[in-house]
Amino acid sequence: MKIMKFGGTSVGKPERMHQVAQLITKTDEPKIVVLSALSGTTNSLVGISNFLAHSDRVGAKQAIDTLEAHYRSFVLQLATTEAGREKANAIVTEHFEFLNIILRISFSEALNKDILAQGELLSTKLFSVFLEEQGIDHLLLPALDFMTIDANEEPQLGSIKVKLSQILKHHADKKLFVTQGYICRNARGEVDNLKRGGSDYTASLIAAAIQATVCEIWTDIDGMHNNDPRVVDKTVAIKQISFDEAAELAYFGAKILHPTCIWPAQQMNVPVKLLNTMQPDAEGTVITEDAGSVGVKAVAAKDGIIAIKIKSSRMLLAYGFLRKVFEVFEKYRTSIDMVTTSEVAVSVTIDSDTFLEEIVKELEPFGTVEVDKGQTIVSIVGNEIAKTDHVLQRLFESMAEVPVRMVSYGGSPHNISLLVNSEYKIKTLQLLNKGLFGL
Ligand code: ADP
Ligand code: ASP
Ligand code: MG
Repeated sequence: MKIMKFGGTSVGKPERMHQVAQLITKTDEPKIVVLSALSGTTNSLVGISNFLAHSDRVGAKQAIDTLEAHYRSFVLQLATTEAGREKANAIVTEHFEFLNIILRISFSEALNKDILAQGELLSTKLFSVFLEEQGIDHLLLPALDFMTIDANEEPQLGSIKVKLSQILKHHADKKLFVTQGYICRNARGEVDNLKRGGSDYTASLIAAAIQATVCEIWTDIDGMHNNDPRVVDKTVAIKQISFDEAAELAYFGAKILHPTCIWPAQQMNVPVKLLNTMQPDAEGTVITEDAGSVGVKAVAAKDGIIAIKIKSSRMLLAYGFLRKVFEVFEKYRTSIDMVTTSEVAVSVTIDSDTFLEEIVKELEPFGTVEVDKGQTIVSIVGNEIAKTDHVLQRLFESMAEVPVRMVSYGGSPHNISLLVNSEYKIKTLQLLNKGLFGL
């Protein structure tokens, strides 16, 4: 059985949904199709939630009406028969009635999650209507019946596996299943989600749970590129990378993959393919245990980073200092991305300011604490990077004009990370494209 996940742009127009139906019926192999919300929908739902969080019911109502109008015109072109259109419209009515009802309910975090779930519920139900119209036998699997996260918001792979295999066993006669990406239930049994971009995570979790033959991520670009195509002109698709490389790229900002979506597939050794819905014949990128080749493969950037420096002459020859520093971050469940040390100071980076004040307060007894916000981590990722000819020389020569705040090299054989002020991000990515890839 294989997994085929289609992102927002791949289902964002009626003709694209028609094309997805063709792509999933090309072969007889049993499959689970995971769909995102139509492009723009989750952003709109976030907007509606924000209006409600600020008690702006008029703003929320306007945003709901605009979104509903979009869906009404979408179903007109999606369905090809009157009966199909009626069914699709009834689905739109049901979900927009829900959104209109919540206008009258007091806002809560649980309600916010319910609002955010509407996108994937709509896309899968509408797609199912279209498949039915086309006489394509399939079953709509509610993700809320099997996709769960624990109290730490970590997916429960073991229980997902048990629940999903029971469901599939029950429907052994079916070959095509459609389900929602992104949405899940939390430890309290409420509707929740796997964070923005989380449909990739759903696909990988399902792939691992059922030991799929392959997990295909269909999107709007022909695979993982060597650099961020949104800010660099000349980028090229990479044919093959390892799970470790892909995980580093996803975590350090390559938007094509959800930051933590690689581990489930990696754990069960299910190959992941990145493919282009708009160019289905393009080769794409294959992600396996084997990296394919040695050397630098790609560069990615992660914004919104905060650098914290703790300077103390008492650190000199003191053991236990780093442990005490790290314990503060552990206490506030804030993960550290980069670490550099000198004899008298340690610098770390974090990507969340939720507990920044508390963390700084608890670090102050250890020495002078300096905080720099607005930083970007630029990661150079590859397989056994050190084996690339003159890699450090090329890296630093190409970036001579950019002030670098921190450098991390040697933590893994796959990554060199640099910390720069975010105003230098685009320039850094462009310079590295020339310096490392000659593009
Ligand atoms: P989907 O809606 O299908 O999940 P996303 O927008 O989440 O698609 O991811 C695809 C986008 O990721 C591409 O359109 C591209 O602009 C962006 N992207 C950023 N970095 C990379 C990269 N290194 N390789 C490919 N795409 C990238
Ligand atoms: N629809 C969700 C989002 O926009 C999940 C996804 O597309 O992967 O973040
Ligand atoms: Mg995505």
